[in-house]
Amino acid sequence: MRLRIFTQLQTIDQQLAALVRERDEVLGKFAERDRLRGLREARRNLATTLKHERATSSDLQWELEDVELRLRTVEESERDGPSDPLAARELMVLRERAAQLEEQVLRQFERIAEIEQLLGEQEQTIEGQAHAWTEQEPLLQAQIERLGQALEARQGQRQQVAAQLQPSALELYDDLQRRHRGTALAPIRNRQCGACRARLPAAVFDLLATPDPLVRCPRCGRVLYMSEPDASPAA
Ligand SMILES: [Zn+2]
Repeated sequence: MRLRIFTQLQTIDQQLAALVRERDEVLGKFAERDRLRGLREARRNLATTLKHERATSSDLQWELEDVELRLRTVEESERDGPSDPLAARELMVLRERAAQLEEQVLRQFERIAEIEQLLGEQEQTIEGQAHAWTEQEPLLQAQIERLGQALEARQGQRQQVAAQLQPSALELYDDLQRRHRGTALAPIRNRQCGACRARLPAAVFDLLATPDPLVRCPRCGRVLYMSEPDASPAA
């Protein structure tokens, strides 16, 4: 009974499609893990930035200390001896530089504080998400495994069923199934193709009365089968 085998194949194919959809959905949830990876990467980058900013800060502080030291030295020599125009000029330049550096050091402190806060926030987010993922991952893995087994079992079943068909009949089924997105078969309703609504000629019903019929709709090409008693040729 080729028609019966076609029907079985269609049922199995629809189950397979549903399983694949379910598995894709579960796999989609693994995007959470990629997001977490992205967050960790961002945190590493931010930590590197913080290191650089701290190094810059300590360079600035060193320079400021040097300038202040020189400033004190020149101020002391000015206090002791007579006023030297060159020394007065240097004092002015040093004071200006010290003021600039002080401002830069302050700005650098602020920048570091901002980065530290951001880093703290990122760490909290990562910790929360990592915790959630740790709980979720085994469940998702188990789901994937279960779906994989179910898919394998159905595929094995499909092979067994398909093996009962002649290669040409299987080819026809596979071709129709692909072309009509999983519906290789169409029921006859009110002497019409249940899929494309084509009115079916009497010849179709004559053919359906022959042994092991594989009759196709003249319009859409799907394989037809009787669905309701009132759709019989006698009606
Ligand atoms: Zn049709």
